[in-house]
Amino acid sequence: MLDIKWIRNHQEQVKAAAKQKGMACHVEELLLIDDKKKELLGRVDKLRTERNRASDQIGALLTQKRRAEAEQLKEQVRGTNQILVKLEAELTTYMQRYDALMLKVPNLVSPDTPFGESDLDNVELRRVGEKPTFTFEPLDHVQLGEGLGIIDFARGVKVAGSRNYYLKGMGLYLHRAVQQLAIDLLTDRGFTVMDVPLMVREETLLNAAFFPAGRDQTYELSEDNAWLVGTSEGPLVSYYAGEVVDLSQGPIQLAAVSNCFRKEAGSAGRDVRGLYRVHQFAKVEQVILCENDTEEAERQLHSITQNAEDLLAQLELPYRVVAVCTGDMGAKNYKQFDIETWMPSRQAYGETHSSSSLLDFQARRSNLRYRDKNGELRYCYTLNNTAVASPRILIPLLENHQQANGSIYIPHALRPYMRGLEAIPAP
Ligand code: AMP
Repeated sequence: MLDIKWIRNHQEQVKAAAKQKGMACHVEELLLIDDKKKELLGRVDKLRTERNRASDQIGALLTQKRRAEAEQLKEQVRGTNQILVKLEAELTTYMQRYDALMLKVPNLVSPDTPFGESDLDNVELRRVGEKPTFTFEPLDHVQLGEGLGIIDFARGVKVAGSRNYYLKGMGLYLHRAVQQLAIDLLTDRGFTVMDVPLMVREETLLNAAFFPAGRDQTYELSEDNAWLVGTSEGPLVSYYAGEVVDLSQGPIQLAAVSNCFRKEAGSAGRDVRGLYRVHQFAKVEQVILCENDTEEAERQLHSITQNAEDLLAQLELPYRVVAVCTGDMGAKNYKQFDIETWMPSRQAYGETHSSSSLLDFQARRSNLRYRDKNGELRYCYTLNNTAVASPRILIPLLENHQQANGSIYIPHALRPYMRGLEAIPAP
């Protein structure tokens, strides 16, 4: 959420950001409603003060036994109350409309974000690692997973519908190994690692700016007034919501390992084969709370991106980093990098990580503040990045590391979490 005063003074900038992101933004309507809301609030406050003063006078008149005058004032108070009821109802309507419009205003875009309409306009920043060359006809991860008996798609669909799967034996080990490797790496780098609530209040998702835009992607548990998280970013950002945090020792680094649930509405027919786009997956997520300073946020963005790159290096996977363009970045993001890992079956790099800087957009909604060096209360800046998401990462792991004899090479860093196994043996 942006500051309403800032929006008022920078209307063209706000409209430009919305246009660049391809989103509707009703700045004029928002400001008109803000004016009307303030005017109504002023009238309501004035009437409430008058009524309270009259009530006090009535009390005084009654003690002095001046009943006729008291009755006259009571009549006046009844009239004021009638007006107040109407004005308060009107005010509530304006407040609701104001809140709804405020929640739709997107975040600004960093000046160095490339302009574009879709992921085709993202700009490659670097490529790291060598793509494999196969001396045999390589298989895709579906053929590999089924052949090795470590992924069962058919029974996943039988039991849970499309975009579902079972991971079995070494498939499960691999899935957990990448997560544990990520948790260890982040713990070594000073992150506080957590297991977080996955069924959260609506407010949590509003505060973290997943709602209102992401409502149609989120599973609702309506009887319990709760929502299943699509990422642990929501519960992590909300951990300190409403609090004043201490950033005097540096940024707060939080990480969580969680299951994530996504409806994938609007993806009908896209990536239906295999593990790329599923309804339930696991993710280790990094979240940073830092001082309200763009240079610090930039340092942190590079740092959490580097964490993910270091992990990919340990997984011995080739990848590239792209600067995400205006039209492909979410409403809440100010700047975004994606990491895409080489997926031989696609003959393309596929997104495996997303690294975002949000300035104080989430912190304003979450009322998440700190005291700066002068003792002033300020909103924090927040950032987030995937450390690893599985089973999507199993696609490059299986496909890049397949061997001529049908086995899958296991990178050294994963072996301690894979019972020391050097390869998943051929079927
Ligand atoms: P996001 O939280 O949307 O930035 O996504 C972070 C990472 O989670 C992506 O780069 C993917 O690796 C993974 N991911 C997101 N959505 C899905 C999905 N539907 N199925 C599998 N993995 C996903």
